[in-house]
Amino acid sequence: MGTPVFPVGYDVLVSRLRRAGCVWAEEEARLLVAAGGGPEKLAELADRRVAGEPLEYLLGWAQFCGERIEVDPGVFVPRARTALLVSTAVRVTGPAATVVELCCGSGAVSRILARRLTAPRLVAAVDVDPAAVACARRNLADLGVPVLSGDLFDPLPAAWRGRLDLVVANAPYVPTAAMVLLPPEARRYESPAALDGGPDGLAVLRRLAAAAPSWLAPGGHLVVEVGQAQVERFQAVLSEAGLVPSAVRDDASDATAMMGRCPVGMTGRRHEN
Ligand code: GLN
Repeated sequence: MGTPVFPVGYDVLVSRLRRAGCVWAEEEARLLVAAGGGPEKLAELADRRVAGEPLEYLLGWAQFCGERIEVDPGVFVPRARTALLVSTAVRVTGPAATVVELCCGSGAVSRILARRLTAPRLVAAVDVDPAAVACARRNLADLGVPVLSGDLFDPLPAAWRGRLDLVVANAPYVPTAAMVLLPPEARRYESPAALDGGPDGLAVLRRLAAAAPSWLAPGGHLVVEVGQAQVERFQAVLSEAGLVPSAVRDDASDATAMMGRCPVGMTGRRHEN
């Protein structure tokens, strides 16, 4: 009984993490210890962290907008900057809105929207990656939000066309050539499909914008995250799709959200793509 594993192990762990380049070494050490696996498990987690594995995969959860969101290996880890996507979506969405999240990953955005929107009807979250779908199902189970598997709007029932007040998505937007510049944690451990947005980063967002008008209710919004350098180009994409574009920036979190509003005179059923 009573081997003083914790104090000794903790200090050693902090300095190992610090040497490995973890900026928040104390906090990470505290969380790894609190994960409660015992000394052997802790040593294994420390080795994996020092080798570069994201802390969130080791813990099995990420902190997002004040909540713990479960994350499975390979599934996109919710980023602090995506809080702007959530607050932007909340700002433009009225009460009792019908909401769909596409490219949902872990389902983090839906989880927070469920708290912040007034009487939302979160009708579905969608992802193309089976690992993300399984993870989002766990994160959204208690909210009763169905998580559907498929590409963008494909798995939604046709009867929802023209009826959605909010379509929110953190789609992949990293230009393929910039993938090598991502932090190694993202590059080596997250699914590239969650990050790689094709030659100019807008390949998926372009398909999303083109299809959105046929799903949005008049006055409804598509709300997405982009890189700041993509604002002008994506503004043009939204306009071409018949949506009214605007952008919101938060320098502190290096976040840019963009909206496309479906004009009230535009009925979705005119577009069948
Ligand atoms: N690198 C971006 C980020 O970390 C990628 C997000 C994305 O492609 N959706 O926020």
